[in-house]
Amino acid sequence: MQDLRRLVVLDVGFLSISVEKTLELFEQVISSGGKEAVSFINADCINISYNDSGYRDILNQQSLVLPDGAGISIACRMIGERLVANLNGTDLLPHICRNAAEKGHSIFLLGAAEDVAARMKSNLEQAWPGLNVCGEQHGYFDPDTELDAVIEKINKANPNIVLVAFGAPRQEKWIHENRDRLNANLLLGVGGLFDFFSGDKQRAPQWMRDRGLEWMYRLYLEPGRLWRRYIIGNPVFVYRMLRWTRKQRQA
Ligand code: UDP
Repeated sequence: MQDLRRLVVLDVGFLSISVEKTLELFEQVISSGGKEAVSFINADCINISYNDSGYRDILNQQSLVLPDGAGISIACRMIGERLVANLNGTDLLPHICRNAAEKGHSIFLLGAAEDVAARMKSNLEQAWPGLNVCGEQHGYFDPDTELDAVIEKINKANPNIVLVAFGAPRQEKWIHENRDRLNANLLLGVGGLFDFFSGDKQRAPQWMRDRGLEWMYRLYLEPGRLWRRYIIGNPVFVYRMLRWTRKQRQA
């Protein structure tokens, strides 16, 4: 993965590659029997990592960190770069499922509220006949008393791919702490993705997604939970980018 284009924004590195290349890399990891953690980072993740060096270090240790959303795309333009593709988990999952169904790779769903993953499993298996969703587990287990049982459940299901949906940075930290105990090839932190694929939450209409406005739709649906993330977080992100780029130029 050395010769892949890597960009850095506010001290967090990520890949600027196409959807096809991303899928090819995933396939390489699985077919070679490797193990890789995958993170998708948006402006909110970068804001979190700004004050959480543990999270930032985890991201910077990973080979597969992928850019998600309009904020990262704007930040790239601010450093004179253009992103090859927006690689959010929600748009990638259909490709991952199609490949997995074709090649016989299995997927475990870990995270979200009780029954959400079960509904998502049945939706995925309906949409991609032959897809093996080999198990699921909600994300509200007690990490002090139930962690071992959850790891054992995942390993017993023997998945190639584990989707971990706890939200950032919890999922990245969980994957980092437990990756050595997990027998799987790809460990993807996917945020709120299960809520969309279970049918519990609606995604923004395509025209909004095409214009980088998905965050606005999420804010409209959940203002109480997300206003801080977007109304405060977006301008803070741009301000930090302006300061950071100025500092980079002076260095
Ligand atoms: N979640 C979980 N366990 C927790 C906290 C959150 O499984 O202890 C789930 C939650 O139900 C939701 C996801 O993590 O499905 C986080 O979603 P959010 O929309 O915050 O993620 P984003 O995509 O915005 O990072």
